[in-house]
Amino acid sequence: MNEHTNLSLAQMDQMSLFHPVTSISDLQKNGPSIYTAAEGVTITRDTGATLLDMGAGLWCVNVGYGRKELVQAGAEAMQQLSFQHFFGGASAEPTIRLADRLLGLFRDTVPGSDMARVFFGNSGSDANDTAVKLVNYYNNLRGKPAKKKIIAREGAYHGLTLASGSLTGIKSYHTAFDMPLDNVLHTSCPHYFAFGKDGESEAAYTDRLITELEDMIAYEGADTIGAFIAEPVMGTGGVFLPPEGYFEKLQDVLDRHDILLIADEVITGFGRTGNWFGSGTYGLRPDIVSLAKGLTSAYFPMSASIISTRMWEVFENASDEMGVVMHGFTYSGHPVGAAIALANLDIMERENLAGRSATLGPVLLEALRTRVGDSPFVGDIRGIGLMAAVEFTGFPQGAAPHKIVARHATVAGVLTRALPYLPVTSFSPPLSVTEAEIIEAADRYARALKAATPELE
Ligand code: PLP
Repeated sequence: MNEHTNLSLAQMDQMSLFHPVTSISDLQKNGPSIYTAAEGVTITRDTGATLLDMGAGLWCVNVGYGRKELVQAGAEAMQQLSFQHFFGGASAEPTIRLADRLLGLFRDTVPGSDMARVFFGNSGSDANDTAVKLVNYYNNLRGKPAKKKIIAREGAYHGLTLASGSLTGIKSYHTAFDMPLDNVLHTSCPHYFAFGKDGESEAAYTDRLITELEDMIAYEGADTIGAFIAEPVMGTGGVFLPPEGYFEKLQDVLDRHDILLIADEVITGFGRTGNWFGSGTYGLRPDIVSLAKGLTSAYFPMSASIISTRMWEVFENASDEMGVVMHGFTYSGHPVGAAIALANLDIMERENLAGRSATLGPVLLEALRTRVGDSPFVGDIRGIGLMAAVEFTGFPQGAAPHKIVARHATVAGVLTRALPYLPVTSFSPPLSVTEAEIIEAADRYARALKAATPELE
């Protein structure tokens, strides 16, 4: 028996669903947007309207919607072994093969990396929680129990569980939740367009950020800092590309102070930046890599944490003394998720989707620049691979021009993401998107900007 009868689906939603990252009062006023189907890059609403999904869901449907191959891989895996846990050494073939394949992919595409093992979870958030716990575990095992603080960045998005949400550097996610936890520090957001000073070169801006980081480490004491966490390109913050020389200098500081690097590749992994991993694009040498989203193209909730050899050796050497590693989840390594991930990687390889992202990225940027680049409301258009951003400028603090345009964009038939930190709209279509779909989406976005103009003036 249902709780509510004789209600429309939208009303039932309003009366029964607690939506993530949604205003309760907006939902009561406006109701939900209900989607019913999707194919390729196009999603369909219950009204029958179709939209080009320039967000790939939440940056996650990398191979596009409706892939029968993934449906089949999932169905076959479910028929064969619908569940297997991995506690106490229990195992299953798809997961073993996926771990090995991820290690090989990372080794082949991220020069200088030295990774040893893969741990599986269910979401980007829990992957980052795993990272925090493993930093603690590592430093406790090697006799450095004070070396636990994690440095993240303002504007970062690392998830919304208690630990990962604390790493997230966007205040609105912390309000009234008693976050962040006090072992987390935030250093400045690296975004030259908004935060570089007048007359400051990009290289000088990078140096200022690195000096600030060194000062923070000196103030806190390097023996209290366990790790630095970074998205190779900050996604939800606003598609912030690292300023010139940033990661090279950062890596040097971390090495000098024996601080681990956690690369949060939940968005940048699996082709988004035009390479398999953002670590390859920007020359990172991480100790932990958090992956989710594109791992299965969101056909199954699954995350992976790749762990470096130097961490693994500490874990392995302490094993007799420590006994069981008391970390893991019921669904860690789920064989159905692993089978889907393997089929997803097959598609990515066969269709060269990372290469496609590199080729189509400039097409997307050019399409946006020629259509909305001249608008007095637009300050910057940037991107790498198939992650791009339009940043609005000249509005008072707290104004949300990007949200107004996004509303019009939905009417014009294109889904974009109006982001929560700065007035930025992101474009991150499935990597299978065609050139024609990119042009059409940019046309629709330009129409939306025009329609929104009276509200922006
Ligand atoms: N890390 C990054 C970089 C993300 O963009 C996200 C989600 O958008 C997460 C972590 C959290 O992932 P999830 O929502 O699967 O917990």
